[in-house]
Amino acid sequence: MGLIGYTCSYIPVELLSATGFLPYRLIHGTISFSEKGEEVVKVDACPLVKANLGYLLENEKRFVGVVGATGCDLARRQLEVITHFTSLPVHILNNPRTDNPKIFNDEIEELVKFLEKLGQKKLTPELVAREIERWENFREGLRVMDQQRKAKPSLFSTSDFHKLCISYHKGNPPANFPSSTSSPSTNPRVYLLGSPISYEANPFLQLLEKDLQIVGDFNCGISRPLLIKIREKNLTGIKEAYYHQPPCIFKRPNKKFYEWVSMELKERHCQGIVAWTLDYCDNYEFELSRMEKTFGLPLLRIRSDFSFSHISQWQLRIAAFAESIKENIYV
Ligand code: SF4
Repeated sequence: MGLIGYTCSYIPVELLSATGFLPYRLIHGTISFSEKGEEVVKVDACPLVKANLGYLLENEKRFVGVVGATGCDLARRQLEVITHFTSLPVHILNNPRTDNPKIFNDEIEELVKFLEKLGQKKLTPELVAREIERWENFREGLRVMDQQRKAKPSLFSTSDFHKLCISYHKGNPPANFPSSTSSPSTNPRVYLLGSPISYEANPFLQLLEKDLQIVGDFNCGISRPLLIKIREKNLTGIKEAYYHQPPCIFKRPNKKFYEWVSMELKERHCQGIVAWTLDYCDNYEFELSRMEKTFGLPLLRIRSDFSFSHISQWQLRIAAFAESIKENIYV
């Protein structure tokens, strides 16, 4: 089945899959894809954008088109590059930075027109309702697993949860959600946020969970889909739910992002925060000091270009961070 690539949590998978193609989130992160991407963008571009471009260039034949959204400058620029270097049809959803539901709603209408042309079929209300039902069931399954992750002690690791989320992002629901849980963890409870967690980042999550338990996250690549709940099974319901999801940090003002994360930190009894940022991801880098002040919890910053060349240094820092939380050095 042909894939429709997409780049952002604000793009409704229900509409993409109603075309009969498979929604595939572009969220790759390896050095080899990133190096391939460097053939078409400058070396100091965002590693996620470079890796996605590299992946797409190597796998173009599997795709029928790409839908991208305007988030940061590079997210937008990558769509221009795809248009230039591939023969794939590309649609850009102009995701408003400021609070403007009308722009978003109009953009969804435009997206529907693009998808109807791409899939050569009408996205009828019946078809849309059926796709909403299918994806809501999938999200509900993930929400149940998330409750286990959130439990005290956490009963499901985030590295295992990430594997389930990958199946969501690749458009393939698992045949069954796991019935048994990972072993309960008694490590210090932390919240993970920052740049997107790629498909290939699982070893990093495992490394973190040797000394910490990640009991919640606000990350593309992991939990973002859970935050979308469609109540009315029609196009209006899709617009509402996707627009009113807890907002990305790039929205302005981003007060609601801070409010959402503050609430999560309390509800999930977090003792610390791990902020994972990609090189050149200024959206997050510029906010880290404010986060430390606003959230009032110890914060471990880890910055990456997707290589694991700093792994021994990370190991030491993670272990020291876990120890400092245990000994209440910060709190
Ligand atoms: S990781 Fe950061 S810089 Fe890269 S596309 Fe996303 S928001 Fe932009």
